[in-house]
Amino acid sequence: MDEFELIQRYFARRCEDPNVLLGIGDDGAIVRPDAGRELVIVVDTLVEGVHFPAGMDAADIGYRAVAVNLSDIAAMAARPRWMTLALTLERADEAWLEGFAAGLFTAAAEFSLELIGGDTSRGAQTVVSVQITGDVRADKALRRSGAAAGDGIFVTGTPGDAAAGLGLWQSGAGNDEDRQYLVQRFLRPSPRVAFAAGLAAHASAAIDISDGLFGDVGKLLAASEVGGTIELDLLPLSRQLVAVCGKADALQFALDGGDDYEIAFTSAPSRISAIAALVEKSALRVTRIGTVTDGDALHCTQAGHPVTHRHAGYRHFAEESDD
Ligand code: ADP
Ligand code: MG
Repeated sequence: MDEFELIQRYFARRCEDPNVLLGIGDDGAIVRPDAGRELVIVVDTLVEGVHFPAGMDAADIGYRAVAVNLSDIAAMAARPRWMTLALTLERADEAWLEGFAAGLFTAAAEFSLELIGGDTSRGAQTVVSVQITGDVRADKALRRSGAAAGDGIFVTGTPGDAAAGLGLWQSGAGNDEDRQYLVQRFLRPSPRVAFAAGLAAHASAAIDISDGLFGDVGKLLAASEVGGTIELDLLPLSRQLVAVCGKADALQFALDGGDDYEIAFTSAPSRISAIAALVEKSALRVTRIGTVTDGDALHCTQAGHPVTHRHAGYRHFAEESDD
């Protein structure tokens, strides 16, 4: 199978979007942005053995490659529109390509995203690079830099699940329902695109917490030139994470685990009721975990008292498990 055949067979699909004037097949794609909207452009690369374990199912890799990019689009409060895909493969394995394309197009369909181009090449390891262009009403995109002292700090979902899930997947530890849930949180992240689009009008800043809640909230606060506190007793821990890891390790995963693709955002006190209305409409779990303060550092409190947070970094799940 040559490159042309491969692209035709697995990636060239009919494009329904009238704003795509030219899709796969020419040297470049042509899209027409809507009047009054700005474009938001993100790209993320997944390298086998670095960002996903060798042996991960091809459909999960395809889904995940799109989802992690969509999370960046969500963090900007943008709407996903168009995607390009740069794929490096050791060889054209038909079963792998079939699975990968199925996962990729599942995510694309879920989030109204069109694949409009890409590049395919041969290399020593699998590398998947997805680039997404989104759009947002002019001047409404959310940045990291808008937080102000007094704002609440919020997070979507239950951070920590994906990092625990990756550890479980790698150690092959158990297969009960709770463990399956956690593994699934790693394999199929849920980018918070719909909820985050509504934040454009009500949040002051946002960030995608792909590298861990504590570190990423710290980046948001630094970009905003403010400090903040996170109250550990407020961290939303999933029932499954606590059941599998115990409370102490669950807290550690929630603070420092990566790969969650949840959104942390800040919002002024005057917007709290608007945020509550958005949350109600979305059926998503959204939790206030702290407050933006003057200063330049992020601190943790527990039951209101300052505690030192030691950044544990990545620890293999097998060493954390207490069962
Ligand atoms: P060129 O060598 O001129 O760049 P390519 O053979 O790389 O052309 O690509 C031909 C067409 O197929 C282009 O429109 C390109 O965007 C598209 N394409 C290539 N690889 C992929 C891929 N993995 N997914 C989607 N489209 C692709
Ligand atoms: Mg090319």
